[in-house]
Amino acid sequence: MDTRPTFYQEITNMMYATHGDPISTCIQCGTCSGTCPVVEFMDHTPRDLIGMIRADLKDEVLASNTYWYCASCFHCNVRCPAHIDIADLMYTLKRYSIWKNQYPEGLIGPTFAETFVKMILSGGRSYEPVLAPAYIFNYGLQGFLNEALTATGLLLKGRIPVLPPRIKRLDNFRRMVGHIIPASNLVGEAK
Ligand code: SF4
Ligand code: SF4
Repeated sequence: MDTRPTFYQEITNMMYATHGDPISTCIQCGTCSGTCPVVEFMDHTPRDLIGMIRADLKDEVLASNTYWYCASCFHCNVRCPAHIDIADLMYTLKRYSIWKNQYPEGLIGPTFAETFVKMILSGGRSYEPVLAPAYIFNYGLQGFLNEALTATGLLLKGRIPVLPPRIKRLDNFRRMVGHIIPASNLVGEAK
């Protein structure tokens, strides 16, 4: 007998630490989809995505752009009659997708998220010049020039440090992060 957890169980386990197993209480009413401000950019509505997870459609869910387009606005959370933390589900799927290294090509979100985690693990703080390459070329030449101009202004005013900042006791911080996110394989890479 195969005792490995199903995709549905993996996702609910990842949410369990904070919220129990909320997906099973979804009544598929569609209120989340009707209230989502970015649903037109998603290839599956939030309601559909929950149905797909419950049906264990792992590959289809991991090929979806839905959770990468989620803006974490929490409209759906406020209106869901089953009180499901849909925004947290979207974050869970992002974490799972990066953990499994499986996501659609051409999206800014996965590269940005992975770069962000590596950057935090390497110095303990955010440093915009490291993050910028993850998205700066996606907005064409004009977008690149605008970002470069803004960054130069911030550098000259001392709002962006010239060198990446580094916190004290970095090893302790890395160990802590390695325990709380399923991306601990990135801890070694960041050193
Ligand atoms: S609003 Fe809540 S109960 Fe209704 S479909 Fe969305 S997640 Fe399910
Ligand atoms: S939190 Fe995400 S899924 Fe929910 S309404 Fe906002 S953008 Fe849509």
